[in-house]
Amino acid sequence: MAEESCLVLVKPDGLIKSLTGNIITSLSETKLKIIGAKIVSVKRELAETHYHKLKEEKGEEIFEEVLKYIMGEYHTPRVLALIYKGENAIEKIRTIAGKTNPEEADPTSIRGRYGRVHSKTGVFENGIHASDSPESAEKEIKLWFAPEEIVEDIYPIKEEKEECEVKKWA
Ligand code: ADP
Repeated sequence: MAEESCLVLVKPDGLIKSLTGNIITSLSETKLKIIGAKIVSVKRELAETHYHKLKEEKGEEIFEEVLKYIMGEYHTPRVLALIYKGENAIEKIRTIAGKTNPEEADPTSIRGRYGRVHSKTGVFENGIHASDSPESAEKEIKLWFAPEEIVEDIYPIKEEKEECEVKKWA
């Protein structure tokens, strides 16, 4: 069995419904390690890059609605981003997350228990995102996290000097 990393997002509907604790508790059944965690206010560029395949796969209309959903226009403008690591992490997490469509998801899964299909937009408000392959996990983790925000070096890193303005506590 392979040691994998997986990006998990508690989506804006999960946060506004105070489901973070329940979701993390459900995922703790996997005995995987959390190696990164942060709250992110999702801007359009990040949302577009994260869901770049969706436009081709599901069409412009769903793509636009999903962008609004992940940016928090319908709930609250934030997500909790987590990285889980361990053996078979992706399959373990996606099994507990359940099918994409909450109406088709196992009722005991996270999406089956807490998700809904929005009656006006048709968006599957399914509370959680989880990477679907090691390749997408790598792309997604590198998109959402900087190396210093992760407590383990899961991918090769390089060190470069950069001169830029940074925010410090006043
Ligand atoms: P998953 O999140 O299970 O990997 P996708 O990557 O296909 O699934 O889709 C990303 C997200 O877009 C889904 O989690 C869901 O919130 C939304 N979505 C996908 N397909 C549809 C659809 N046909 N109708 C409504 N919402 C959808």
